[in-house]
Parts: sequence; C-alpha cells; structure tokens
Amino acid sequence: MQATARRLFVASATSCARRRLTRNALPQHPMPLDQPLVDAAIRQALDRFPTGYAGAAAVRTDAGRIITSVAFDPPNSCASLCHEAGAYCEANRIGARVVASVCVSRETPGGTFIILAPCGICQERLALWGPDVEVAVAVLGRPGEWECRTLAELRPHDWLRAVSDAEQSPILR
Ligand SMILES: [Zn+2]
Repeated sequence: MQATARRLFVASATSCARRRLTRNALPQHPMPLDQPLVDAAIRQALDRFPTGYAGAAAVRTDAGRIITSVAFDPPNSCASLCHEAGAYCEANRIGARVVASVCVSRETPGGTFIILAPCGICQERLALWGPDVEVAVAVLGRPGEWECRTLAELRPHDWLRAVSDAEQSPILR
C-alpha cells in the first residue's frame, strides 16, 4: 500500500528555509514543516478512514507538539468543517501558536495522498498566528510531493497587509 507524500527536494533553499535563516531565533521547532508532520497527517487519515476516502490535517505548535484532526461532516454540509479546523481550535484551547500546517487527502485506498494547501477560510484562521506560519502545498505535476510556503506567500495581497499599510501611511494619518 502506498501511503506517502514526499517533499520535493530542490538544490536551492526553499522560501521557508530562507525565512528560517533570517527569522529571529524564537523558541520553536527548528523545522516547523517537515516530513514527520506530513506523515502524522497521513497516519491520522488512515486511522480515521481505513477504507475508502481518507484525509486529515496535522499542525505543529511553537512548542513542537503535533496536533491532528479530521473534517467534521454533519448531514447539512453548510455546517461542515475542514480537516484543519479541529487542530486549529485545539491549539487555541491550549494557548499554543501554530507554526506549520499540512492537510492530506486521497480518494481511494492504496492511492497517493495529495497535499491540499489551506483553503481561503483556513488561511483566515491561520492568520491568527501571523504571516510566517508554514504550510504544505502540492507540487503540480508531481502528485504526492509537497513544498513549503509561508502564509504570506499564499496570499500576497492579504487584506491584513492593506490595513497595516494604511495604519503606517503618513498620507492617511
Ligand atoms: Zn479549510
């Protein structure tokens, strides 16, 4: 059974790696987003959905703890929640900062898990922990492989940046 999703390794430093080199040395996991975090999401998906569709999310907190969760799918789909939502809420419950997030999904048993970047709503949720949160994104054309991006890279025109920019602008003061 193939149940893997692997990072696409490139010769040059990724944007996340470069950011780690320049970021202040906050007390957090040295590699917020790594293969063990992806593997934790896959294990959670397989535990909860051993047959058929499988999916789950995993986040790492600033203390290095991994929290996993799965989607909530009540009969009324309007009330459903993404795979990530439970992990985000649990991190919030314990007062931890999320520093990395990954979501995996596969349609059929034995199929390859693909990486799902956080949806727009989950991006808004992740914004609670700032633009440097790392997220796994799919490598298009190479199903199952993933790359690291920051939340800021996912949304370069984030509305929060406009608010911050306006607050600092001498024109609008
Ligand atoms: Zn979502």
